[in-house]
Amino acid sequence: MKGNFPLSKWERLQTPFYYYDTELLRNTLDTVKAASEKYNYHVHYAVKANANSRILSIVREYGMGADCVSGGEIQAALEAGFPPEKIVFAGVGKADWEINLGLEHNILCFNVESIPELEVINELAQAKEKIASVALRINPEIDAHTHSFITTGIKENKFGINLDQLDKVLDRLTELPYIKLIGLHFHIGSQVLDMKPFKKLCSRVKEIQQQLAKRDVAVEHINFGGGLGIDYDHPNREPIPDFETYFEVFHKHFAAAPNQQIHFEPGRSIVAQCGSLISRVLYVKEGSEKKFAILDAGFTDLIRPALYDAYHKIENLSSDEKKETYDVVGPICESSDCFVKDMELNKAHRGDWIAIRSAGAYGEIMASQYNCRSLPKAYFSDLL
Ligand SMILES: *Cc1c(COP(=O)(O)O)cnc(C)c1O
Repeated sequence: MKGNFPLSKWERLQTPFYYYDTELLRNTLDTVKAASEKYNYHVHYAVKANANSRILSIVREYGMGADCVSGGEIQAALEAGFPPEKIVFAGVGKADWEINLGLEHNILCFNVESIPELEVINELAQAKEKIASVALRINPEIDAHTHSFITTGIKENKFGINLDQLDKVLDRLTELPYIKLIGLHFHIGSQVLDMKPFKKLCSRVKEIQQQLAKRDVAVEHINFGGGLGIDYDHPNREPIPDFETYFEVFHKHFAAAPNQQIHFEPGRSIVAQCGSLISRVLYVKEGSEKKFAILDAGFTDLIRPALYDAYHKIENLSSDEKKETYDVVGPICESSDCFVKDMELNKAHRGDWIAIRSAGAYGEIMASQYNCRSLPKAYFSDLL
């Protein structure tokens, strides 16, 4: 089954471009909202998945907060109208100007990953005569069994404070008067489809809270991060990820203390399925071993296959002819500029429209201008 795309409206558009189905985005946001409100959970959209200004303003309409990992993302979130008290700021390497930006806007929370970072935030907050609210990002040492490049919660990872360092961090915190500890933050990885690592995370957080309780420390906010995966194989069969089951896992396995707020930071699961990279076939090249469909889109437009070996379903929207096997490649002068090897596509011809599906997350935002290429434009189903 192919996706339903308005080819007739695209005739004058320059390819490649991103095409966003805003109806699907809104349906997804409705689902997230209903599923999270059932348990009073707070959702912060992870801006890094897609910071297109229209996408951000649609997400904001649904009352979500923003999870930012840079000063630029904080600015983008503010410009899209996210209230600063719903912005959290994570990242292993926050620069002084980025911390100052967060302090100036009184954002909800800095998710802090090390003692030196706590010390710098304390100093910068003191200079502004403010108290910075922080959550400690703790590495829960749980393997999310996802691709090694997107696993973040295991011990040797650069992210977070390791469990055996926690006491030392809490000791240091008592000496930093311009910091207020308000929460704990976790993020185990991305594209996680198995619910077991999330269950493990719940029990790990319980243990950590017990450890904190021994020192009379209680936190108001628990942030379980993002990471819920999507179905890259069947974007039409499962366009909206199963948020009900996801939140239910946390509800069943983690009992929040009275007055404790529970937060999530989904990125991919909200925006991935609503976006496709649209391209046209430039040439069909018959090699001695293989047939290549050469597109006008390359890894400058969508880098996930080259960067993480990621799979995206590809459809030839112009042809219903018998399927043939192609390597679908881009025009960039690098061998890694290949979207997929040995893919079955309806017989391809020069000029055919090609949709690379499930590209709404970590697609447009990762585009580059390598080879002096233009950045891809974005079009929206409700504005064409
Ligand atoms: C990337 C990231 C997210 C979002 O991850 P998804 O897999 O896109 O849901 C959430 N929180 C933090 C801290 C992140 O780094």
